[in-house]
Amino acid sequence: MARPRVVVVGGGPCGFTLALALARAGWGVTLVEQTASGAPRPYRGEGLMPSGLAALEALGLWPLPASVRHRPLAGWAVALDGRSLFTAPEPLGGDRGCWLVEQPSLLDHLRARLEREEEARVLEGVAVRGLLGGAARVAGVVVADGQALAADLVVACDGRSSPLRRLAGLELAAEGEREGLGESGRAAGGDAEGEAVLWFRLAGSAVAPLARWLAGRFLTAVGEGVSFALFAEASDATLRLGWVAEPGVAPLADASGWREAWAAALPAPAAALMRTLPLTAIEGPRRFPVRVGWAPVWHRPGLLLLGDAAHPMRPVRAQGINMALRDALVAARLLGPLATGQDNPSAGASTDDLHAAIDGCLPRVAAARLPEIRLLQELQAGEAGLGALLRQVGLLRRTLALSAPWSGPLVRARWIQRQHRLRQGLPGALPLPK
Ligand SMILES: Cc1cc2nc3c(=O)[nH]c(=O)nc-3n(C[C@H](O)[C@H](O)[C@H](O)COP(=O)(O)OP(=O)(O)OC[C@H]3O[C@@H](n4cnc5c(N)ncnc54)[C@H](O)[C@@H]3O)c2cc1C
Repeated sequence: MARPRVVVVGGGPCGFTLALALARAGWGVTLVEQTASGAPRPYRGEGLMPSGLAALEALGLWPLPASVRHRPLAGWAVALDGRSLFTAPEPLGGDRGCWLVEQPSLLDHLRARLEREEEARVLEGVAVRGLLGGAARVAGVVVADGQALAADLVVACDGRSSPLRRLAGLELAAEGEREGLGESGRAAGGDAEGEAVLWFRLAGSAVAPLARWLAGRFLTAVGEGVSFALFAEASDATLRLGWVAEPGVAPLADASGWREAWAAALPAPAAALMRTLPLTAIEGPRRFPVRVGWAPVWHRPGLLLLGDAAHPMRPVRAQGINMALRDALVAARLLGPLATGQDNPSAGASTDDLHAAIDGCLPRVAAARLPEIRLLQELQAGEAGLGALLRQVGLLRRTLALSAPWSGPLVRARWIQRQHRLRQGLPGALPLPK
């Protein structure tokens, strides 16, 4: 049987890990990524849960080399109305903690590994514009310059806005994003739009004292009219601040207003450090509209959706990269053996038989992944609901803040309990490591 050929569209965490795993399994792989090689990629987070680390490990990619900047997360902290409610050190009583892994250096590492594989190639700076094949079966892709890339299978790992999902006529069951909101650009001051996260970067030597105060923790702070996450990047040089913009609520318009709102929600030592931060250290924001959903159908003959393309996740408790890695692992375990004839009913048979074997696998990938995705989206919605309650009910927030010395440990114990599934994923959702 000839080596099956796959075109993987999208060089994010899902696309690169899947492409690498399939190439190792003996597939001929072409990965197509629209961002040009070396071009800066927008910040897409770096929090990896034990669930994502387990997938990397099963793929033979964990531990990571030193060239990929990564470090363990020290813990979590929650502050309400300027008082510390609790701190919870990693690994929250479990075996394995969360890590921060810088995405661009992870993707560079995966690209380098992929390029070492026989029959694997990476096309960067090339956007996919269309699908080959008729209504019966997808037969490859057409890229921006009109070149056709034929394949036995196309895997769309092209992110939450997935052009391929649209081209394939597949839809999300639910979307939290209002029409017409772009993903980038500076948020217009004073606008009132849909639910979104405004991402700021706090950079330069002036942020060092605040980074020292954070001590490697992920802080969530909620105060009057403000709710944000603050943490240091994997490289430790820069802080990221994600401000939850409520639907219909106009965010403050200028940097000194933002800085004061953040300071008011932080415990005293951090508030003082925030107030002395030069305004020039504050970059952004980039508005990232919240989009949540899942495609009830992930496949058509010859095409599979994976990662954000199949199920954009809510930005709560770092799930998107983790679920994308787990999708890639499961898909590779089911599709990989088709390259060698192992587990393949069509070994030595015709192209039609190979296509039938591939198409028979696609619903199994979706069926293996959907229960975990649905569970985690529900858990994320629950966490987001609690966050909204704290933002909106001042009396509850103030009561917890004022009673923190005794309410903090109770809330912390319940919080740690709730994190278990969000960190580990659904038991049995992954194939065992080989
Ligand atoms: C600010 C921010 C912070 C985040 N923080 C975290 C976090 O800490 N932890 C976590 O788990 N998740 C986080 N996420 C979510 C996470 O980034 C995504 O869920 C994850 O990247 C999904 O991986 P993916 O490979 O499915 O898609 P993506 O990473 O979105 O990759 C899709 C790729 O497809 C390419 N592409 C799109 N269209 C085409 C085309 N037509 N032709 C060729 N290429 C195309 C894109 O350029 C892109 O490189 C964060 C997201 C954001 C925006």
